[in-house]
Amino acid sequence: MTQLFDALGGVADTRVVGGAVRNSLLLEPIDDIDVATVATPETVARVAKAAGFHVYETGLVHGTLTITIAGQPFEVTTLREDVTTDGRRATVRFTDDWARDAGRRDFTMNALYVDRDGVGSDYVGGYRDCLDHHVRFIGDAGQRILEDHLRILRFFRFHAAYGRGPFDAEGLAASRAHKALLAGLAVERVQHELFRLMGAQGAVDAVDILVAEDFLAPFLPMPLSSAGFRALARVEAAAGRSLSPVLGLVALVQFDVDAFSAAATALKLSRKRRDRGLAALRAAREMPPRSAPHVRVLLYEHGDQAFCDGLLLALAQGVDVIDVGRILRDARAWVRPRFPVSGADLLEQGAPSGPEIGVRLKRLEGVWRDSDFLMDKDTLLALDRAHLEKDA
Ligand code: ATP
Ligand code: MG
Repeated sequence: MTQLFDALGGVADTRVVGGAVRNSLLLEPIDDIDVATVATPETVARVAKAAGFHVYETGLVHGTLTITIAGQPFEVTTLREDVTTDGRRATVRFTDDWARDAGRRDFTMNALYVDRDGVGSDYVGGYRDCLDHHVRFIGDAGQRILEDHLRILRFFRFHAAYGRGPFDAEGLAASRAHKALLAGLAVERVQHELFRLMGAQGAVDAVDILVAEDFLAPFLPMPLSSAGFRALARVEAAAGRSLSPVLGLVALVQFDVDAFSAAATALKLSRKRRDRGLAALRAAREMPPRSAPHVRVLLYEHGDQAFCDGLLLALAQGVDVIDVGRILRDARAWVRPRFPVSGADLLEQGAPSGPEIGVRLKRLEGVWRDSDFLMDKDTLLALDRAHLEKDA
């Protein structure tokens, strides 16, 4: 950050803003650093390039540049104020007025600035709210939601992540009053906020309200269960994991494969997220493991991630599993054994080439798996020879 201040500080007033300031005050980890500056994007790009930083112009139309210095990204945005808003997108103009830039942000705790000398500026009472863990809209909550409907979900998400105690009454009332507006949002934005929300430490209380009051019905029309989500949160916490949003969604749709597939399509989940959920559900159906060797068979068949995910899903559905802690520890330490026989080995000892080779390999792999992965290559090849002779 010092390097960025050195480069930009000479040309314009530049300050860190948003999540980085908020999280420093809350002693939470910081992932990305947002920077606000009076300099125009052109000036920022020129100065940054001259200093030898990488500049990505992806958000240029909104006045944002991403600058990376030694691998650390900084989102640098020229001060803006809203000109028009329609609930989904805003037209903005650049300004040099810090209070106006603060005024178009969503929550007071997200509108704190710190300059290069560590001096903070707070135009909206965010410092107090931050220390109180109070997630509060800047200005009139209803008005702010009308400007951008996504702020309803952001309200629940930020409270789940950083709030303490009850939801801000005014924010909650305004969210309720305007919840029908969620239906018009782009699902990509909804997915982003919903997943951040489900992964937050206080997600359970937020999900309770969202489900009980049908906030999610426009994108998730299937029956939802906050009890399932609550059970999963408890199980993940007991296992020492932070809640996985994909599994959260599986629990939310009542652990049902078809409902999860429909939800994945409705929310436009990435293939990776969809596959993780489906793999977890497949593994969950085989729980609980019957024995230590069966644990290893399931690990081999499903892979360690789907195995652990499936185990937690099963626990959340009330399946009795003895010694969960040890199973999870073993799963983490598990190294995938390598099947020692190849098609070439079989050909070498006279098996006829063709699709038959694949069938023989699969059969041997099954025998090997059922031996707890102990049978060695020679024994397996001898077995295959015995089969060859029998077939002949
Ligand atoms: P995190 O990165 O942990 O999610 P963040 O506060 O950095 O937290 P971002 O979504 O990265 O959140 O947004 C950066 C800042 O931009 C916010 O702190 C807020 O000031 C502002 N902001 C983002 N989205 C909105 C929005 N929909 N309405 C108003 N201000 C917003
Ligand atoms: Mg951020």
